[in-house]
Amino acid sequence: MHHRIKVILVLALGLAGFLILLDLVLALLPNDGLKLLEERKYSTVYYDSQGSLLQVTTVKDGERREKLEKNLINKSIKKIFIKTEDKRFYFHKGVDYAALLHAMLQNMRGKKIVRGGSTITMQLVKMLNTDKSPTLSRKLHDIFYARVIEAKHTKKRIFEVYINSLYFGHGATGLASAARTYYGRSADKLSDQELCCLAVIPRNPTYYDPVNNPDNCAERACALYNKIFHKKTSLEAFRSFLPAGLFSYPYEAPHYIRYLEQMAAAQGEPEALHTVTLSINLELEHYAQQVLNDALVLAEDSRISNASLLLIENKSGKPLAWVGSANFFDEAHNGQIDGVLVNNQPGSSMKPFLYALALETKDENEENLYLPSSILADIPTEFGQEKLYIPSNFNNRYNGPVRFRIALASSLNIPAVEILNKVGVDNYLEKLYSLGFESLRHTGEAADLGLALGAGEVPLKELVPAFAVFVRDGKDFDGDQVYQTDTARLICSILSDKGARALGFGYSQTFETSYPAIFKTGTSNQYQNIIALGATKDYTIGVWMGNFDGQTVMGKTGSSLPAWAAKRMLDFMYGNTTPPAEKLKQMEFPEPENWTKEKICSLSGMPAGPDCPAAVYEYCLKGSYDPSACCSWHKKVDGKLETLYPSEYQQWMRITRPDLQINYNTSPLSIKSPKNKALFYYSELHKEKQAVSVEVFGGAQNSLEVYYDDELFALIDRPFVFQLPVERGEHSCRVVCGVEQDEIRFIIK
Ligand SMILES: [Zn+2]
Repeated sequence: MHHRIKVILVLALGLAGFLILLDLVLALLPNDGLKLLEERKYSTVYYDSQGSLLQVTTVKDGERREKLEKNLINKSIKKIFIKTEDKRFYFHKGVDYAALLHAMLQNMRGKKIVRGGSTITMQLVKMLNTDKSPTLSRKLHDIFYARVIEAKHTKKRIFEVYINSLYFGHGATGLASAARTYYGRSADKLSDQELCCLAVIPRNPTYYDPVNNPDNCAERACALYNKIFHKKTSLEAFRSFLPAGLFSYPYEAPHYIRYLEQMAAAQGEPEALHTVTLSINLELEHYAQQVLNDALVLAEDSRISNASLLLIENKSGKPLAWVGSANFFDEAHNGQIDGVLVNNQPGSSMKPFLYALALETKDENEENLYLPSSILADIPTEFGQEKLYIPSNFNNRYNGPVRFRIALASSLNIPAVEILNKVGVDNYLEKLYSLGFESLRHTGEAADLGLALGAGEVPLKELVPAFAVFVRDGKDFDGDQVYQTDTARLICSILSDKGARALGFGYSQTFETSYPAIFKTGTSNQYQNIIALGATKDYTIGVWMGNFDGQTVMGKTGSSLPAWAAKRMLDFMYGNTTPPAEKLKQMEFPEPENWTKEKICSLSGMPAGPDCPAAVYEYCLKGSYDPSACCSWHKKVDGKLETLYPSEYQQWMRITRPDLQINYNTSPLSIKSPKNKALFYYSELHKEKQAVSVEVFGGAQNSLEVYYDDELFALIDRPFVFQLPVERGEHSCRVVCGVEQDEIRFIIK
């Protein structure tokens, strides 16, 4: 007991001395720690666009600390907590000496006491200090800083910090978190009885735990309530105000919210928002998850284990649904990985960006390099100078001459590489960067001509807003005109053209919508990813399916399941029914302004002539359509229709369509392959099989003289295709056709 008496004596003397000097000095002290408590990290409360709770983030180790905003601290809250903790809160200057003395006297008499006479302010000081020992120096420290805080701040602010800092058990710090954890409500919506149940907890969150020790809590809370409000509620009746159980915190839109939090952290967290309303719509989020899981069930035989989906609103570009994986909690399939952010090879889903650029590229005469009616050669072709690139089609079939529209809609590979080779990889990359494909800054250049087929890696997060540019008349979400309005409209016309898709995909039901929509699908080179993009005037969607561990997908291609999922989601957006006529009209893709639809030959793309067997309507530049310059491929000779293909199709026709005829005289004589200065490697292993294949186009006559190393090697008839024997060294090959001739050199090493 000696020790205790000493404590009191020293304390009494100390206090007297302090009182006079303190007030003068206190207000001048720079830092009192209140701000530290005030600015401690708060939970962020995320709501969806309809006001549904998505998540309350934890600040650390499962602890939540929602901020109870000033305007929600009502009279009941103040009354109950002040009466419980610090009756004379409004009348003291941080230290309630009467209460302190009372507590000490009780303590000396050996009576059980619940608290040490600490005021609300002193409790705040305690929260700031890790040293919780009940020593004299500690007490003096608390008293001193309590006085500092009071000298510097209003009672209102002190209470505000206090009510937001109390710990209520079950990971809930602050009254707002307590109200949600125990009652699933906002603190200002609690009754006086319920507030009393919460008010008793901070003293001893385990002992007064309203869920695990309801008797302790009810007994004390009931007494408190009766005392404060002068009531005589029975304990039995009061029990009904105890919480029924713990609130189960939702964990919705987990990938998207994690992405937002990481972005905020990366940007150094400017001013933390305590409540955030997202563009996400929980109903859509749930439906999207359902659609992906259905697609995965259908994909059971294809070794596809995961899927992700991003749906944005075209007005703002903001996400309405962001599903990073089929199931966030599925650890076996890395469900926590966010497929919206993962870089994948997009395959053919990138082609529209290239074709759109092609429509805007001019030749040396300032004329359009490509038109929707342009003819592209879908035949085996070598591209590139130093790095040889020989693409093949998805189904390994070659279609000969195809119109630009069909090549894009049917996703043919060789025409795409031809276009990229013409417009230039650098130009295309620049365009892709301006479309927001930042991730290609890492993989784009290395992909080279492979970019035409979607080599390089991009996430859905970049693909979806970029695809939206087409239905937004060429504008991106920063308001920049990435493509001309007409270009975007032409692409929409092509990607919504069911007939044009038939060559690549057949008349597939997958793309059949009862409203105007565009679709593009893609499969990565190693069949690891399948992707579908879809858009209407209102929404743009991207669906990825595959495996996060890079396992190869079997059997299914981008045109099937992801497209099915994308379409189902879009259908849902329109109520799974055909939109009303007025809405449909508003959903139509507008016509390009400087183009008119004209009748062209479906094979040659030229103005349809009297002998063309099939004609289609296609957009032609206003004023450029000249029906007198009609199709030169179709001609009736003696009443019989002849189709004369340009000579570059001779090799393809020799293999696939021997019945067709070539119009050899349409072009000057030239050696098509190999290219001049080509390099070949001699292999000892396959001596007898080796030869250099030569293909020659054009020429006015029907026979050709071939000179190999300046010696006459052969005389051949059409088609001008032959093979030269292989020997190490430098060689020349010269061909003569009437008065025309051409020569190349090549090296065999
Ligand atoms: Zn024709």
